[in-house]
Amino acid sequence: MKVAVVGGGVVGLSATAALVRSGVDVVCFERSGVLMGERSAGSSRIFRLAHTDPELVRLAGTAREGFARWAAEAGRPMIEQSECAISGGDAHERAAAMDAVGAPYEWGDGLAAAARLPAVVAPSPALVDLTGGVVDVDAVRAHLAARAGHVVVHEPVDAVDGGQGATVRCLGGVHRFDAVVVAAGAGTSALAVQVGIDTPATLEHHVRFTFPFEGPAGVPAWIDSPDLGLHTYQHRSGPGRWSVGGALDPALTHWERGREAVAAASRRAVLEHVRERLTVRPVITDSLYCTHVPGLGDGIEFRRSGPVLVVYGENLMKCAPVLGDLLGAAVVAGSTPTGRTPQPAPRDAVS
Ligand SMILES: Cc1cc2nc3c(=O)[nH]c(=O)nc-3n(C[C@H](O)[C@H](O)[C@H](O)COP(=O)(O)OP(=O)(O)OC[C@H]3O[C@@H](n4cnc5c(N)ncnc54)[C@H](O)[C@@H]3O)c2cc1C
Repeated sequence: MKVAVVGGGVVGLSATAALVRSGVDVVCFERSGVLMGERSAGSSRIFRLAHTDPELVRLAGTAREGFARWAAEAGRPMIEQSECAISGGDAHERAAAMDAVGAPYEWGDGLAAAARLPAVVAPSPALVDLTGGVVDVDAVRAHLAARAGHVVVHEPVDAVDGGQGATVRCLGGVHRFDAVVVAAGAGTSALAVQVGIDTPATLEHHVRFTFPFEGPAGVPAWIDSPDLGLHTYQHRSGPGRWSVGGALDPALTHWERGREAVAAASRRAVLEHVRERLTVRPVITDSLYCTHVPGLGDGIEFRRSGPVLVVYGENLMKCAPVLGDLLGAAVVAGSTPTGRTPQPAPRDAVS
């Protein structure tokens, strides 16, 4: 069987690596010169089991086993298990979903994990996801490059067709396959529509900022949805680094405002938050830009049209190993994995 995967982000590469592992003849098309350079860029992401849907808690649990397998193969950890604190917003719903699956958590009362956060006032109560932490994206990228890099072709795909067999059209010509996986991130909807699959096409700008941080390793990641003020996700993104992303009012981040205006508004909002609420120095040392689809919080959708399998969603890094395995198995079997309708948190952004 000959399979094409479109997209060399974490999802496409995970699927490609799973197919290589199963001995399938696979080619991965990536339009840029680097792997995991768009939505999968940067060096860290939050990992958590805490979701509001028990099936997503389960999925993240399976992903965690997958990260452990990758870590064993690579000989280096993929997740720093520093825990993840969730305060405000839907924390109780997440606890209920974790209860349903038996996922371990505690309520921090400001004395334990929550007190380790670089917050002026420790959030209380905070759900502490005990298996949460931070994904080492550099380790993931290196591992996937080692497993799948040799089958990547750095060419943009202009068209996908599932009419008679499956074809992928690039500048270099038309290539025939038995099946195609479209995991092209922001490029997915333009390709999916060619095979009659509608996926959300609206994009929003988002920027995460990094600040100097003297705290030790092992500080929990933190998702905070206060009744008033900025909703944020934050974590130690490496030695001496604390990264903060904020969910601004969608009126400030929509596409037509332009990347520069959104970056400036995000910078102002996050800096104000850091000055008022955190103990880290309010000096931006780095930033990470990405596009995301407004309204898609946690969740994942799979759609099929003939031999073409399309995947989309948000916050997919934490589930990458299991998504790769699901896509790899489904594309060979001609089946469609069951998705989980994205469930946005209030004013959700990435995290
Ligand atoms: C700032 C930020 C913070 C985040 N925080 C978290 C977090 O804490 N936890 C979490 O789990 N997730 C988080 N996410 C989300 C997570 O990183 C993404 O959901 C995930 O990386 C998406 O991977 P992907 O492979 O779907 O997309 P991408 O990484 O964007 O990969 C798609 C690839 O397809 C390629 N492509 C597109 N069109 C074509 C085409 N026509 N031909 C060939 N190639 C094409 C692109 O170049 C790209 O490399 C965050 C994202 C950002 C940016």
